[in-house]
Amino acid sequence: MLARLTKAYPDWGPTLDFTTPLELLIATILAAQARDERVNEVTRGLFRKYRTPEDWLRVPQARLEREIHATGFFRQKAKAIKGAAQGIVDLFGGEVPSDMDSLIRLHGVGRKTAAIVLGAAFGVPAIAVDRHVARVAERLRLAAPGPDGPEEGLRALYRKKDWVRVTWTFVLHGRRTCMPTPACPRCPVIDLCPYPFKTR
Ligand code: SF4
Repeated sequence: MLARLTKAYPDWGPTLDFTTPLELLIATILAAQARDERVNEVTRGLFRKYRTPEDWLRVPQARLEREIHATGFFRQKAKAIKGAAQGIVDLFGGEVPSDMDSLIRLHGVGRKTAAIVLGAAFGVPAIAVDRHVARVAERLRLAAPGPDGPEEGLRALYRKKDWVRVTWTFVLHGRRTCMPTPACPRCPVIDLCPYPFKTR
């Protein structure tokens, strides 16, 4: 399945623009419930102005809220950005940490955000489960849904070296083909899929 999905989505990989782990962390916080294209438009200017965790702490909350307004949920996101920046300064000497346990200690950073940062910014194997990955894994019966989502099941199923590729090929499959109403007739893994409600 992974080989076929890789062939079907050769452009797999992060779709948020970033040049540092801090930028990816902030872009990922902003990407909740927002389109990546919109986030990239917003961060283009912000990343030129704010480069360090201290920069993000210095900007007044109200101004930050205005600057990220277009990504939605701007109050929570501004709080999460400032909370994460504070944690990076207080707990990790101003550097974004490069392991899961440390990353999820940061305010506003859950396992999904941490896994995206680990895989894309640090090259550390990690599977990030967003709604697309969860839907695809469930329909393909690759990992049982549970309170912690399918992350554990996917980690057991795939080799570590493939975890980042699993994340991004599943994301693209969920966005482009296996959407909430799936486009099964053009699915590259239709013959392997046990989902009972395929579209025709
Ligand atoms: S056959 Fe349909 S439900 Fe199954 S993975 Fe493909 S798009 Fe999704």
